[in-house]
Amino acid sequence: MFGRGGPRRSDNSKYYDILGISKNASEDEIKKAYRKAAMKNHPDKGGDPEKFKELGQAYEVLSDPEKKELYDQYGEDALKEGMGGGGSFHNPFDIFESFFGGASFGGGGSSRGRRQKHGEDVVHSLKVSLEDVYNGTTKKLSLSRNILCPKCKGKGSKSGTAGRCFGCKGTGMKITRRQIGLGMIQQMQHVCPDCRGSGEVINERDKCPLCKGNKVSQEKKVLEVHVEKGMQQGQKIVFEGQADEAPDTITGDIVLVLQVKDHPKFRREQDDLYIDHNLSLTEALCGFQFAVKHLDGRQLLIKSNPGEVIKPGQYKAINDEGMPQHNRPFMKGRLYIQFNVDFPDSGFLSPDQCQLLEKVLPQKSSKHVSDMELDDCEETTLHDVNFKEEMRRKQQQQYREAYDEDDDEPSGQRVQCAQQ
Ligand SMILES: [Zn+2]
Ligand SMILES: [Zn+2]
Repeated sequence: MFGRGGPRRSDNSKYYDILGISKNASEDEIKKAYRKAAMKNHPDKGGDPEKFKELGQAYEVLSDPEKKELYDQYGEDALKEGMGGGGSFHNPFDIFESFFGGASFGGGGSSRGRRQKHGEDVVHSLKVSLEDVYNGTTKKLSLSRNILCPKCKGKGSKSGTAGRCFGCKGTGMKITRRQIGLGMIQQMQHVCPDCRGSGEVINERDKCPLCKGNKVSQEKKVLEVHVEKGMQQGQKIVFEGQADEAPDTITGDIVLVLQVKDHPKFRREQDDLYIDHNLSLTEALCGFQFAVKHLDGRQLLIKSNPGEVIKPGQYKAINDEGMPQHNRPFMKGRLYIQFNVDFPDSGFLSPDQCQLLEKVLPQKSSKHVSDMELDDCEETTLHDVNFKEEMRRKQQQQYREAYDEDDDEPSGQRVQCAQQ
């Protein structure tokens, strides 16, 4: 049905020309040439169907050592005889799909007309440090995966053919019935155990010696993962078509999801970095300088401006010392520093020292209470409190009461009030 037109002079360079490769191109080069040309000329992408068909035919012949040898020696005509005289090729779309699914299309053409399944993507998380995404790095990830058996190209047999499974008549599913009571029959459908759902069986003597007819074998593989500067938490690195291979299946992707570990010093928000720094009260009032080791090992000298006073909780920022932007690593965010001020403990100052300090520090505001006013005041006592803890306990108490009221009074009205 896809035969070529009338008789033509036998030549043995046409298929190489179609793929744009030389006659001594390697198996890999043939594959690459086909991949590139077929993607470009696929009719779904507006390519010429005739050209697409030619590419498929050229690849079908040159990727098959037997056919290639025949073609190289005797040209296209010999090949037509070898293919049963009709010169029929496989459907170019089947060839395309098989290629990108990794399955071979030689032999009995078992994939013809069968829709290819999409294999599942394999998702791993990849833990990296903040240093890794600041500087960029390459990680090696070793994994094992199923590949189509290299000996039989995923056919499972030496001849490349398989017979229809007798147990399921090729459907891959089996129905069993069993009587579970008088006149009651339970029907169950399950995957055929003889062919494990494939619908095919391979003659014992014809089984591929390498994979024993399993069609796939295990491959250990080391992935080189390039973690680029500025990559974000949750960002995906995709290795297309690198997941488990299976017959008649378009191989899924290996997807690595970046997990940036917490850093003991730096916090990241988008392209900005945050650090906390504790100052003594003296530093906060009289100036400071300190060094911060950055994520690439540089030491940053950080110092106050002359006369500058830092207040507790205050932020300051250094430009261009944040994270590099992904894809624009020369652009960097800011490094924010939040300052805490450590005040000395009670009893630190003697009364004399207090008097000295008072002369230097801003005037007391409490001085404004006059003797007259003092006479009208009541004495109080200040107690130490753990404010956060007390608030937490109060909130718990409120919740508990809200639920209690809910039990007593299902009207809902009061629950609303209590939850406010
Ligand atoms: Zn079966
Ligand atoms: Zn095999």
